[in-house]
Amino acid sequence: MANPPLKDIRSKIEKAARIADRKPSDIALIAVSKTRSSDEIRPLLEAGHCVFGENRVQEAMEKWPALKGDYPDIQLHMIGQLQSNKAAEAVALFDYIHSLDRLSLVKALAKEMDRQDRRIACFLQVNIGEESQKGGCDIKAVPELLAQARTAGIAVAGLMAVPPDNANPVPYFALLAKLARDRGLDGLSIGMSGDFESAIKLGATHIRVGTALFGARAVRAT
Ligand SMILES: *Cc1c(COP(=O)(O)O)cnc(C)c1O
Repeated sequence: MANPPLKDIRSKIEKAARIADRKPSDIALIAVSKTRSSDEIRPLLEAGHCVFGENRVQEAMEKWPALKGDYPDIQLHMIGQLQSNKAAEAVALFDYIHSLDRLSLVKALAKEMDRQDRRIACFLQVNIGEESQKGGCDIKAVPELLAQARTAGIAVAGLMAVPPDNANPVPYFALLAKLARDRGLDGLSIGMSGDFESAIKLGATHIRVGTALFGARAVRAT
């Protein structure tokens, strides 16, 4: 593992896991490669990292089919808001979807999984800060959406959230962890560059790290 930022993050993951009495291997590091070129991504692949996240279907389709040809073990996570009319491409390209947040998307994804005979696990995204501009289902809607996803045959891996900007994320992480526990869900997709160590202490199983691995993004990607 010759990539210095990757090495640094790995050691921070190990330290946070040790403090929380957890196994580092139970925490998946998703390298968030949105806005990054294939040339910026390749050094991480060379260093043996193969778990990546993107937030736009179109951008991911431009980069990843070629990279997957060279590195067959790549695991791709869709972490951005997903439109139902992109369900076919998303099911074909991604291995996990972290942004399942409404019934119309449940239906669109289930239909594509049937059609392509390809089952991919999903996280339910929760609008944990109750922000009008953010994706995610309402906190109160989690049980119903979970039931709808399962009825449609979608395996739900856990819950995902992006806490409000400029706020202490810890209470939001703790709330999401409680919601997941209450429903018997193991997966918890929380923690980004600035807060993944706290997220690990609160039970994160999937952390989504971009800036700390690749440097600051030139353009704002939402
Ligand atoms: C961009 C993004 C990240 C990574 O953010 P960094 O601060 O660059 O680590 C994580 N999760 C989601 C949903 C994102 O869109």
